[in-house]
Amino acid sequence: MSAIRSAQDWKKDAEKLSIRHQAFIAGKYVPAKSGKTFDRINPATGQSLAKIAECDAADVDVAVKAARAAFDKGAWRNEAPAKRKKVMLKFAELINQHRDELALLETLDMGKPINDSYNIDIPGSAACIAWYAEAIDKMYDEVAPTPNNALALITREPMGVVGAVIPWNFPLMMAAWKLGPALATGNSVIVKPAEQSPLTALRVAELAAEAGLPEGVLNIVPGYGPTAGKAIGLHPDIDCVAFTGSGEVGKLFLQYSGQSNMKRVWLECGGKTPNIVLSDCADIDKAATAAAFGIFFNQGEVCNAGSRLIVDAKIKDRLLEKIFKVGETLQPGDPLDPSTKMGAIVDKTQLERVMGYIKKGTSEGADLVFGGKQVRENTGGYYVQPTVFDKVKNDMTIAREEIFGPVLSTITAKDDEDAIRIGNETTYGLAAAVWTRDISKAHKAAKALRAGVVWVNCFDEGNIATPFGGFKQSGIGRDKSLHSLDKYVELKTTWIAL
Ligand code: NAP
Ligand code: MG
Repeated sequence: MSAIRSAQDWKKDAEKLSIRHQAFIAGKYVPAKSGKTFDRINPATGQSLAKIAECDAADVDVAVKAARAAFDKGAWRNEAPAKRKKVMLKFAELINQHRDELALLETLDMGKPINDSYNIDIPGSAACIAWYAEAIDKMYDEVAPTPNNALALITREPMGVVGAVIPWNFPLMMAAWKLGPALATGNSVIVKPAEQSPLTALRVAELAAEAGLPEGVLNIVPGYGPTAGKAIGLHPDIDCVAFTGSGEVGKLFLQYSGQSNMKRVWLECGGKTPNIVLSDCADIDKAATAAAFGIFFNQGEVCNAGSRLIVDAKIKDRLLEKIFKVGETLQPGDPLDPSTKMGAIVDKTQLERVMGYIKKGTSEGADLVFGGKQVRENTGGYYVQPTVFDKVKNDMTIAREEIFGPVLSTITAKDDEDAIRIGNETTYGLAAAVWTRDISKAHKAAKALRAGVVWVNCFDEGNIATPFGGFKQSGIGRDKSLHSLDKYVELKTTWIAL
């Protein structure tokens, strides 16, 4: 449908949109107990979209009570896995049926191109929910090897109440990565979307209820991190937190757990992904396109963005020329225009952060060789050109800190070994990529790179069947794949004397 829709069509729909603006607790939309609201600003225009319920600790507590009551009642966790599958498949189907509306909400809320919301975020979220639904009635528990006079069962039981704390860069998709495995295994979930992007989570809660998810199993509490988020981290009756966001806040969740009830904490944090192009790269055009999309896709607001291009001196200039050519085609535009490939930065704070890093790059001595400016200021929105620095040293701020914007740092390597060494010289370990035509070099590099995902001769590939998450300070635990189910269950041994 989107292919034949114009920016005008999307804008007309936007005017008619009814935005869910209250929290969703125990199956109903409710205001925050304090009566407070916060403004959701459309980053494409700087205009207010809606006033959203500003939940805090009091609302989190009500949501936890509803989630716990649902769990204790067992209407979800005690259902046959095949029944949970059916409800979740219906939920996924409803997300797809509301694809236009959800894509529009996502784009208005956080500024990504409508084409991406429509083709990636919304169907990807539905597919994730459906994948875990399909998996859950095919999972077996275990019988342990024991002497003949005993039988030992190893079974998986749902944790209980899960808090999911979500970032703004892929709002519905990051929620789906938690909801799929957490709901499939029978838990109750409380989602706190980022303050910048609550709209799709608030809308799909109702779709989940329509699909048959019992009251209290899914609750959405929009609000700020230091109030609502912290209350989730500290709540004594939440069993597990699944967090995606910055390392700084991830570390706070580890502290909250220690200060409260030792709740399980799973963290998907940031990255400073090295995209390593060795001198024997077989296809420089492909590598250039992948490098450009790897940093400019989603306005660079991607945890695994290929923000460090580490390239052999022999091919650096040729590669950069080609990256600029691709960059020309990715200039920021109106997010509601289907031809736009790069949209608006999520908010003014993030815009200023990105511009601050660009300034810092120049002041620390890197060469700004492409872009670097704020654009489209007349729209009232927040837009930054695709930006490339050359002559970056790996100890400069722009090579060390996550910028979360469309800013590429090019670091020149002396040889293959130097490239891998620089690649690993980071506190992060979410992803890495290497480009080479030599299969043994590729394997050696893949083994040497300390990252949760290594791409060889490609970038940002994967599917729901492959785990995603970080080594080092990129996180604890993995999203996606059957492995992520383990985060939401406790193992129980039942030893029976025969
Ligand atoms: P963030 O500031 O860390 O926020 C993430 C979530 O934590 C938001 O819901 C936020 O709420 C909440 N939060 C903020 N301060 C808190 C506090 N003091 N206590 C409890 N909760 C708090 O991250 P972001 O700016 O939304 O997203 C960008 C970051 O996410 C980047 O670092 C990126 O790399 C990472 N990310 C990682 C992955 C991955 O899979 N590894 C995927 C996507 C993004 P409010 O914002 O509403 O205050
Ligand atoms: Mg934030």
